[in-house]
Amino acid sequence: MTRLEGRAPDQVRPVSFQLGIAPHANGSVLIAMGDTRVICGVMIEEGVPRWMKEQGVGGGWLTAEYSMLPYSTQTRKPRDITKGKLDGRSSEIQRLIGRSLRAVVDLEKLGPRTMWVDCDVLQADGGTRTAAITGASLAVAIACDKLVAEKKISSLPIRNLVAAVSAGVIDGVSVVDLNYEEDKAVTVDFNVVATEQGELVELQGSGEEATFSQDQLEEMLALGRQGIAELISAQRAVLTDPGTGSKQFAAPPSVR
Ligand code: UDP
Repeated sequence: MTRLEGRAPDQVRPVSFQLGIAPHANGSVLIAMGDTRVICGVMIEEGVPRWMKEQGVGGGWLTAEYSMLPYSTQTRKPRDITKGKLDGRSSEIQRLIGRSLRAVVDLEKLGPRTMWVDCDVLQADGGTRTAAITGASLAVAIACDKLVAEKKISSLPIRNLVAAVSAGVIDGVSVVDLNYEEDKAVTVDFNVVATEQGELVELQGSGEEATFSQDQLEEMLALGRQGIAELISAQRAVLTDPGTGSKQFAAPPSVR
């Protein structure tokens, strides 16, 4: 099977991170994975939601919002506010982003603060939720670094970086990181979220008018984990040397 962009089944799209895209945010990153681009901005507010105070829950909180800008899709997508309600897909995605980040942020260490993570899709070409998680993880790390540098907290409240990638089955072949054209052709839609230590945070998998076998599940999972390891080394390279951020990272595929 030849992929539409000529990629190997185990090859993620080139990824790049542009830092400081939103200067008022505590941390911000424009992530590009191929033609999918998402702006991830993190703002930290002093204080926690009322439910935490009422229930005596200590530490801080992290919450995420996701939206697609009207011009991010091939046909204009009206803003949710115009329709008067958040669409179900956005709501599902923003909860996934929040869970993924809370898995790696130490909320106790964060102290009584709320971390707002806003992910806005600038250009959609498949895998926007996974790109949002990968970009937001970096934006959160940058915002946390600043909290330590400003001496608001004594140590970094992040246990690990986290990243995510999609996978699927096209014509019986398992592939990683689908673009929109491929996404339309898949018979199985899979998303993997995992940490730097290789621990899984969330798996989302569904047959699209089809079923899948355990072998295919394991193949998609292995492809996803390998892709995530590549994305996390790209995140690490940027954190170590922010100057590398706008370079494109394209890991060589092991199978061509
Ligand atoms: N998409 C779109 N309009 C929408 C929803 C999705 O154009 O309202 C496109 C977009 O390219 C997106 C892709 O369909 O990336 C796959 O959407 P899905 O819901 O599977 O989420 P994603 O793969 O972006 O996480």
